[in-house]
Amino acid sequence: MPKKEQTHDVIIIGGGIAAHTAALYTARANLAPLVISSIEPDQLSMTTTVENYPGFPQGVQGPDLVNNCKKQAERFGATYIQGIADSFTKQKNIFVVGVGKASYSARTVIISTGASARRLSIPGENTYFGRGVSTCAVCDAALYRDATVVVIGGGDSAMEESLALYKFAKKVAIIHRRNAFRASKIMQDRIFKLKDKITVLWDSEPVEVLGNGKMVTGIKIKNVNTQKITELKCDGVFLAIGHVPNTAVFKNVVPLDAQGYVITDRFTKTTTPGIFAAGDCQDPVFRQAVTSAGTGCMAAIQAEKYLEHLKASNTY
Ligand code: NAP
Repeated sequence: MPKKEQTHDVIIIGGGIAAHTAALYTARANLAPLVISSIEPDQLSMTTTVENYPGFPQGVQGPDLVNNCKKQAERFGATYIQGIADSFTKQKNIFVVGVGKASYSARTVIISTGASARRLSIPGENTYFGRGVSTCAVCDAALYRDATVVVIGGGDSAMEESLALYKFAKKVAIIHRRNAFRASKIMQDRIFKLKDKITVLWDSEPVEVLGNGKMVTGIKIKNVNTQKITELKCDGVFLAIGHVPNTAVFKNVVPLDAQGYVITDRFTKTTTPGIFAAGDCQDPVFRQAVTSAGTGCMAAIQAEKYLEHLKASNTY
């Protein structure tokens, strides 16, 4: 266990692949990082086969990939503690992370708290999560070859998920709660061009995910104009109703954008010297395992450079 009164060189907050990669790099740089991870699983740990992470021709299970990254970081000296960072303050050049009654201080902090896919909170959604309910078509589309799937949402993500799915699935139906998409026109046009394969159910709200105890078998939807409830048979339900970055605790110390993503430059630096951000908490666009690992690596290298700069300028 780390000594609480000690000032760490690096604290990494998060438990996904961005955090583990940052931990691996900072550990190999002899910075003895402390990683504070919540008990809540990261997004990759909630998926099954990951087929697009380079280096695994047969694919790799999401939880295995994440656990192996963590083990690799621990092998080089990263220390992990479990807890939720519930306060974050800057005291001169030191950052203090509160975790319940404990607090930990560091000269640099890498925020990699991820983003959580927004959920519908309807019956059956949690029961069948990972068993037909998914938040990542790019990860899971190939598992739905010749299947019937629905995508919930009307934004660019819903269009993108549908375009990833139609290449494999027999049929894709987009379920949208209004009568117009909010997605960009170019994305909408792509969808409308594929009307033989992708249909749209307008003015429809999902009310229950149905299943046979093992896998999804359908979805109940309500027409918001007529209130009529119908059942649709399907093998997969893809949620594309937006993401919520897990960044609220940092808002007084680092600038966030209107959606709550940590604002960084292309080197993963925030405007607060000593704080870097990596992975989905700073990336509203790509949100891939490999890009998260990439920014985790970048943040670690930048943290190391920043510490060297502190030493060189006698402000360590
Ligand atoms: P978004 O633009 O916020 O769209 C979310 C969609 O989900 C909306 O259509 C919304 O309906 C619907 N929705 C929200 N809560 C719902 C609920 N409880 N039940 C049913 N439907 C619900 O999110 P996004 O599509 O993830 O896009 C986020 C950002 O990333 C956007 O700026 C987008 O342009 C960008 N993005 C870009 C691309 C691309 O260019 N290739 C791809 C993905 C994302 P309403 O429309 O009725 O509000």
